[in-house]
Amino acid sequence: MNLNLTDKVFLISGGAKGIGGAISRGLIEEGAIPVIIDPSDKEGKEILDLAPGKSLQVPIRLFSPEQAKECVDLAIQTFGRVDGIVNNAGANDGVGLEHGNPEAYVDSVSKNLFHYYYLAHYALPYLKENKGAIVNISSKTAVTGQGGTSGYTSAKGAQLALTREWAVELLPYQVRVNAILPAEVFTPMYASWIQSFANPEEKLNEINSRIPFGNRMTTPEEIAAMVLFLLSEKASHITGQHLYVDGGYTHLDRSL
Ligand code: NAP
Repeated sequence: MNLNLTDKVFLISGGAKGIGGAISRGLIEEGAIPVIIDPSDKEGKEILDLAPGKSLQVPIRLFSPEQAKECVDLAIQTFGRVDGIVNNAGANDGVGLEHGNPEAYVDSVSKNLFHYYYLAHYALPYLKENKGAIVNISSKTAVTGQGGTSGYTSAKGAQLALTREWAVELLPYQVRVNAILPAEVFTPMYASWIQSFANPEEKLNEINSRIPFGNRMTTPEEIAAMVLFLLSEKASHITGQHLYVDGGYTHLDRSL
């Protein structure tokens, strides 16, 4: 299948490592141009080296509207177009109801959610020009809960609501908006979280055993494959969808 992404330009927040890193690499394999918004120097450079002149890193931690505008402006100045955005940057920061506080909660929601809106807002004029696409990376925690992480799950739930809301608002421009809900993906974020358990290996085996398809985690590349498809013209009649790329984790029978 030719996704026809050659020379198209996509902004990916958190695009140097983990799921975002796999998306940036996948876009390069398809001949597209990733604009990686991520402070990680070493990992960013490794990706840029794969496509000199046909990739760009904005080495910042994206939080403010001004930063989001700068990222879009830089993409336009450098490559002259934006065809899509992938809102992906985020961290499960464990600000809970019992073990948390109002300030930390507001901070967590703000860090995980607001930049999704900012980037979409500033990219919109160019997405309209190119009938582009938005992919929001949410999480299964938005629909299952996790416990102890009110800020993160608030943001992840709101991302699903915004996916539907933007899909409706952008119908007249033929800009498609979809969300992906990963469940268990072994990324640098996941690797550091698993280390917080007394016996990480035992915990990992326990989690793997609960994943119906293959008793293994989803790979970042498996999430990226769905993102690339949704960004491409091959997904031309898919909008407003919440797609679970999770080996059946969220929906299949627990006894499996
Ligand atoms: P990751 O391994 O931590 O990679 C994320 C990358 O984004 C890192 O390079 C990180 O840099 C960067 N980053 C974080 N906040 C940023 C910001 N505000 N601006 C720019 N870059 C930022 O995370 P991941 O596991 O790939 O997660 C990616 C997305 O998938 C997140 O939205 C997460 O909620 C979602 N997700 C992941 C899983 C999973 O199992 N991994 C499950 C469900 C949902 P630093 O390392 O310097 O922070």
